[in-house]
Amino acid sequence: MNIKSKISLLALVAAATIGSVKAQHQHNANCGVTYEMEQQLPVYSEKDVQLFKEANPERFAAINIPVTFHTVANSQGEGRQNRLGILNSLCRMNRDYAPHGIAFYLKDGGFNEIDNSNIFSMAGSNGTLIQNFKDGAAVDIFITENANTNGGDSPDSGTVLGFYSPGGDYIIIRKKEMADSSATMSHEVGHYFSLRHPHSGWSEPYDIETYGSTVPFTTVPETGAEIELMDGSNCETAGDRLCDTPPDYLLGFTSQACFSNFGVFDPNGDALESQANLSMGYFNNCPTYVFSPQQIDRLKMNIASPARNFLDNTHIPNETEITGELSITSPGNQETIENYNGVEISWEGVQDADQYLVEITNFSDPADFYEYTTSNEALYVTDLEPSKAYFVNVKPYNDAYTCYPEVGSIFLTGNNATAVEDPSFVSDFVVFPNPSNGSQDIIVDMTSEWNGNATISITDLAGKVIKRQSVQISNGKQEIVASQGGEIQSGVYFLQLLTAKGNVTRKIVIN
Ligand SMILES: [Zn+2]
Repeated sequence: MNIKSKISLLALVAAATIGSVKAQHQHNANCGVTYEMEQQLPVYSEKDVQLFKEANPERFAAINIPVTFHTVANSQGEGRQNRLGILNSLCRMNRDYAPHGIAFYLKDGGFNEIDNSNIFSMAGSNGTLIQNFKDGAAVDIFITENANTNGGDSPDSGTVLGFYSPGGDYIIIRKKEMADSSATMSHEVGHYFSLRHPHSGWSEPYDIETYGSTVPFTTVPETGAEIELMDGSNCETAGDRLCDTPPDYLLGFTSQACFSNFGVFDPNGDALESQANLSMGYFNNCPTYVFSPQQIDRLKMNIASPARNFLDNTHIPNETEITGELSITSPGNQETIENYNGVEISWEGVQDADQYLVEITNFSDPADFYEYTTSNEALYVTDLEPSKAYFVNVKPYNDAYTCYPEVGSIFLTGNNATAVEDPSFVSDFVVFPNPSNGSQDIIVDMTSEWNGNATISITDLAGKVIKRQSVQISNGKQEIVASQGGEIQSGVYFLQLLTAKGNVTRKIVIN
């Protein structure tokens, strides 16, 4: 399983930096679901599955599963995984599960931003805290810097790719795994829906050098787990408890090859033949990874169980493949825009796309980064800095189709500031209370002759974004809560309403 292959170089660097302490115990990074955690997962017998399947065939047909991605930054709002990487990972996961009629879709837009340093850097030891942020009506996936128990310089930092918490019923995935090449998300979602590792019970690979080619014990020394036999006689009680996934003694973990013949014999003396290309295993560098028929049955059995009733099975997501060619019409490639705080990005839309993700990154400063989602084919951006080169990416997507590649262009901002006037569609735009005493909610009161998606951003005088939220503008008079009382420290800020039809800016004071 290439769950660790992408980061093997990093793991080597990490191992090197901690020197001899870890030298005798070098591991690549791995999934954080331990044997103890696996024992908390429900087990379904083959007989029960077949009976349920015959009585409820529709629960084994096409299934749509809502997902909420919690993108976690540190408490200063820094380090958050960008949405583009997540959409590409979701594409990968949907590709992995599509042959089995399972589609994952972005619930209500799909993203929730959290600023919390504890979750960001030590997701493994903040379970109670994490549960407070769960959506509760979706598969909750938190994308963090680190999925280990300890963060920072701790020896185990950076060795866990992700995990499913059976106690908290959420998934943590570190942000490095947000790439099309990583199978981590498909693997952790397998755990979420009750699947164990094929090597369940083995916390260390079977040690051929110490114990010889024939396994001399019937239980795993480290955990006491029953060792699964090649003849299938204990497949329902050992390993992953499934009979169509052969025994696995974790030998793929330290190998870089999609290869299962290590010359090892099980306690009966039968040659061990693991299945290297299982998504739930740890073998590396297989061209593709699969789920076995019994794994898919268990997965669907779990989805159909009362414990999963909170996952909406009535919403029909848009799985339509997006076709056609997207082209950015403004700015032109390498165009210099006279202004920096009023840049219109527009593109020729693509057939069948409901949403567009627009990402803008400063060439020389990755922290000078902006992302927007819109259903329009244009965006008016006021956040950029003067005299900088920016890269813009536009990616069309639907809630269950995120595989269309992003289209990019380069532009440069000028030195001029645009005199910002209220756009014509808005009237009576008032922010109150202003000044605020700090404990009051900041409210925007306005009348609009347009409806659509917009963003309310609050920036400090240096241009740093303090808060940004997506809002829905409707026709007529409306009130929008721009920030909750106590949320923003005292100071002077700019509040902006950003829309495809233009922006509104007001200075606000919080005492
Ligand atoms: Zn795992």
